[in-house]
Amino acid sequence: MSGLKKLKNALPEASWTDDKQLIAPWVVEWRDKYQGNTPLMVMPSSSGEVQTIVNICRNQRLKIVPQGGNTGLVGGNTPYGEVLLSTRRMNRVRDINPVTNSLIAEAGTTLLSVQEAAASIDRKFPLSLASEGSCTIGGNLSTNAGGVHVLKYGTARDLVFGVEAVLPSGEIFNGLTNLRKDNTGYDLSRLFLGAEGTLGIITAASLKLFPRAGHVQRVMVGLETIADAISLLDHCRAGNALSMFEVMPRIGLELVTRHIPDQKDPFEDVYPWYALIDWEVGDEAMGRAISEDKLMGASQEGLIEDAIIAQSETQAVSLLALRENMSAGQKFLGGSVKLDITIPIDRISEFLCEADQAVEKIVPACRPVAFGHLGDGNIHYNVGAPENAATEEFLSNWQKISDAVFDLVDKYQGSISAEHGIGTMKKDDLAKRADPAKIKMMRAIKQSLDPDNMMNPRVMI
Ligand SMILES: Cc1cc2nc3c(=O)[nH]c(=O)nc-3n(C[C@H](O)[C@H](O)[C@H](O)COP(=O)(O)OP(=O)(O)OC[C@H]3O[C@@H](n4cnc5c(N)ncnc54)[C@H](O)[C@@H]3O)c2cc1C
Repeated sequence: MSGLKKLKNALPEASWTDDKQLIAPWVVEWRDKYQGNTPLMVMPSSSGEVQTIVNICRNQRLKIVPQGGNTGLVGGNTPYGEVLLSTRRMNRVRDINPVTNSLIAEAGTTLLSVQEAAASIDRKFPLSLASEGSCTIGGNLSTNAGGVHVLKYGTARDLVFGVEAVLPSGEIFNGLTNLRKDNTGYDLSRLFLGAEGTLGIITAASLKLFPRAGHVQRVMVGLETIADAISLLDHCRAGNALSMFEVMPRIGLELVTRHIPDQKDPFEDVYPWYALIDWEVGDEAMGRAISEDKLMGASQEGLIEDAIIAQSETQAVSLLALRENMSAGQKFLGGSVKLDITIPIDRISEFLCEADQAVEKIVPACRPVAFGHLGDGNIHYNVGAPENAATEEFLSNWQKISDAVFDLVDKYQGSISAEHGIGTMKKDDLAKRADPAKIKMMRAIKQSLDPDNMMNPRVMI
C-alpha cells in the first residue's frame, strides 16, 4: 500500500483531502509568488493525529510541509510535492489563566482569536500583524513574527513560555509551562521559534499575557525626511508608554488611497513621509496630555510638518488601516521586489539613500517603497516596477536587486530577514552571508532532530 493510502486509512475522513479544488487556495502564496502542489492535504484535529501522520510519513519516506494560515511571505509554506500538513483544525484555546497571565492555544488558532481570548479576561496578547485574522499561532512562532508592537513587547519569541511539538521521531515534546523561571538545561522550546517548520510541528503553545492599557493614544504625523522620523522616534519615547512607531512614504500612502476601498488621506497637504505613533497610557486624559506635549515639542524642534491626534476609536482604527493596507496597496505596483530587513536605527537614513541609488542603477525609474516598523529598525524595502514596465521583465531583476540591497545590509551590519524568515526565498542568501559557524550549528541541530530531512525539506538550510 502506498504511503499516501496509509495516511488516508489511518485518519478520519475529515482529516485529509486530495480534492484539487479544496487544496488549490493552500498551494498558492498570498502574493502569488509561489504556486506549488501537493498530492494530499492532511488536516489533523489533535496532537495525536499529528503524531500518527509524522510516524507514517517517516516510515514511508514522505516529506511534510507544515502550514498554518498560509500568510508567510518567503515561500516556506508552499509545498512542491510534499504532504501539506494544515494545522487550521487545531484551533482550541486549551487554557487561560489570569493569575499566571498565560494562555495555552493550539497551533492553528488564529492570532485574532488569541487576542480576543486574552481580552475576554481583561488581558492583552500584544503580537499584532496586518494578517492577524488569518495567520496562526503556530505560524507566528515558527516565523518568530514581529509586527507593530515589537518596540514595547518584543517579537513572538519574547511572548511565549514554551511549546508542544511533534518531533520528526514521532515523539511529543511537551514544553507547555507557565513558569517564568525554569533553569533546567537547554531552552528547547526556543529551538522551534523561528525554525519555520524544519525541526518539527508545533501543536500548541503557552503564551504570555499582559495587562491591558486603559487607553491607547494614536497620532499620525506628516514629515519632511526619514531623518526627522528617526529624531521623532527618540523624542516620542516616554517611559515604556511608546508602543508603536511605524513609517510610510508618500508613494505607499498614495497606492493605498488610490486602490483600496474606503481609504482616505487624512491630511489636506502632501508630505514625503508619515509616521503612525501609539502610546499606551492609563486613560484618555493622559493620552491627550502625552500626545500634545510630544507633538508640541516636535513641532518646536522642526521635526514634524503636521499632525492628527485620533479623537475616537473609529478614527484610530482608520489611521491604522492605512498602514495595514500598505502591502495590499503595493499589489498594484505592477511587480515588486520585497525585502524585509533590519538596519541599526541611527543609520537608516544613510542606508536608504545608498539603497535607492543602488536599485536605480539596476532598474532606472524603479519605485522603492520603504515602510514599516521604524521603532525596531525594520524596514520593508520594496522595489516597485517603473510605471508601465512589463512585470515579468522587471521581476527578472529580483536577485540583482536583492544582492545590491543585501550588500548594503551587510555593510551597515543589519539583517537580511527582520521578521518574515528565510523560507526558500532567502535560503541561498543566508548560506552566502551568515556566519559559517552559525550555519554549521544550524545544520548540526537539523541533522540531529531530523536526520531524514523530512520536515519542510527545501527551507532555510
Ligand atoms: C498582509 C500581511 C501582513 C503581514 N505583516 C507581518 C508583520 O507585520 N510582521 C511579520 O512578522 N509578518 C507579517 N506577515 C507575514 C506572516 O503573516 C507571518 O509570517 C505569520 O507569522 C505567518 O503565520 P501563518 O500561520 O500564516 O504561517 P504560514 O504562512 O502557514 O507558515 C509560515 C512558516 O511557518 C511554518 N509553520 C506554520 N505553522 C507551523 C507549525 N504549527 N509548526 C511548524 N511550522 C509551522 C510553515 O511551514 C512556514 O515555513 C504579513 C503577511 C501578510 C499577508
